[in-house]
Amino acid sequence: MTLPSYLEGAWRAGAGAGTPVADAVTGELVTRVSSEGLDLAAAVAYARRTGLAALGELTFPQRAAALKAAALALQERKQELYDLSARAGATRKDAAVDVDGGIGTALVYASLARKGLPDHTLIVEDDPIPLGKGGTFAGRHVLTTPRGISLQINAYNFPVWGMLEKLAPALLAGLPTIVKPATPTAYIAAHAVRVIADALPPGAIQLVAGGVPGLLDLLGGQDHIGFTGSAATAARLRADPAVTRRSARFNAEADSLNCSVLGPDAVPGEPEFDLFADALVTEMTVKAGQKCTAIRRAFVPAHLIDAVSEAVEARLARVVVGAPGAEGVTMGALVGLAQRDDVRAAVTRLSAAGSIVWGDPDKVEVTGADAERGAFLSPLLLRADDVDRPEPHEVEAFGPVSTLMPYRDPAELTELIARGEGSLAGSVVSADRDFVRRVVLGAAACHGRLLVLDRDSAAESTGHGTPMPQLVHGGPGRAGGGQEEGGLRAVHAHLQRTALQGGPEILDSIVNRDMQSGEQR
Ligand code: NAP
Repeated sequence: MTLPSYLEGAWRAGAGAGTPVADAVTGELVTRVSSEGLDLAAAVAYARRTGLAALGELTFPQRAAALKAAALALQERKQELYDLSARAGATRKDAAVDVDGGIGTALVYASLARKGLPDHTLIVEDDPIPLGKGGTFAGRHVLTTPRGISLQINAYNFPVWGMLEKLAPALLAGLPTIVKPATPTAYIAAHAVRVIADALPPGAIQLVAGGVPGLLDLLGGQDHIGFTGSAATAARLRADPAVTRRSARFNAEADSLNCSVLGPDAVPGEPEFDLFADALVTEMTVKAGQKCTAIRRAFVPAHLIDAVSEAVEARLARVVVGAPGAEGVTMGALVGLAQRDDVRAAVTRLSAAGSIVWGDPDKVEVTGADAERGAFLSPLLLRADDVDRPEPHEVEAFGPVSTLMPYRDPAELTELIARGEGSLAGSVVSADRDFVRRVVLGAAACHGRLLVLDRDSAAESTGHGTPMPQLVHGGPGRAGGGQEEGGLRAVHAHLQRTALQGGPEILDSIVNRDMQSGEQR
């Protein structure tokens, strides 16, 4: 029953009883997760030796081809991942966000690399920059592959997307990856690795199911650590000597009290009013609200708060909670009972600032499953009229929970948004261009991504909560201060930038692949 890890090209099970992982819907044991007794030092050495060398032999387009092959292998077998995701509480729609979203991201990266990166193993950023009057001395910037590895530590809510959106830029940059999935959904990530491993060069990917004690001790300045998860774990890892003393690159994507804003023009009857209510309910219910980008704070004009509350409540009344796949079910379960306890505790804290206007944290009608054995929770809409209370701006309930709050004018709104102390994603729903401009310019510095939604863009809009591989994902402050995706920016972030100085011709002979012999390439 112990979930094996994929190390040094083979599947190996850890020792001991491990951590039991239960089915989110039935409570039955799915697997046990343990890395006890596994030789993680050998895994790091294998990545450095075999993985780095194998990837180093490939140019960017060749790496892109391997990435594409891996994504297509997953595409063929995605039903297996949907089935496993259902055991973690995900409806088919939820699973598509993770699985199809991950495959799509890998394919976009393969395409961006094929079109935008050279048939080479390094990137030359600029033409020679003259540094002397006679033209005999110049400078250029190059990006080359570090002599390291990429360790990715992922949150439980996106076992496939979270892995692929980190794997894609690391692989393209030539860095071998060790994946450390979160324990509650490690079995889904491990299955995805099973599917893609043969499509990738040897050593390009390994996976540790379970803890990684001592692994950070082996990392240093040539290595990259990509973390997604809670702010508390991010703070702990950021303080590790691998980061503080040896300068391993560390990127954190942490939790976030994302906001959505309704404009004063969007009164009932205007399309933006409905777009706002629809988006809020979507963000509350997709993946049962277990999305780092979900709307936690919904700011609405004070005079519209009753109307918005009614509209959202009417939509929430149509949500059917239950077993993924059961007739009519539109919202699945949280990942486990411990997560439900966490969300209930967070809702208790949030309730101190206002009241629950929809849902009961302790009671929910469930279709196709037992409400107590499975990790089911009602969607919960809160309302906090006293916007000065700290809780809505500080407490993340990582579930189907959102808080409505009133604002009086754009100046107050900008202050309220900033109280989230940095977010991944925000949205403004309004057709009033002046209002939108004011809010966006006032809030941009607090956000990694801002989406404007109105009647004209709604049909093609990718939605508040969906990170796009072409655009940056990550936010300042509480959101972790990191940045992922953003097209080829993420590949560049895994490479080392070096300024080269010398005569223009010698610089050209160093960076120009056509001027090198086969062996040098
Ligand atoms: P978490 O408890 O912080 O865990 C995240 C990952 O860190 C897991 O793989 C966990 O492993 C690992 N971990 C914990 N302690 C560690 C240590 N000392 N050394 C190495 N690894 C360690 O977060 P979670 O409960 O999985 O995810 C929910 C949180 O993630 C929410 O707060 C959410 O907002 C945030 N999130 C953010 C984003 C984003 O893109 N910004 C995306 C998704 C989720 P174990 O599971 O084995 O303990």
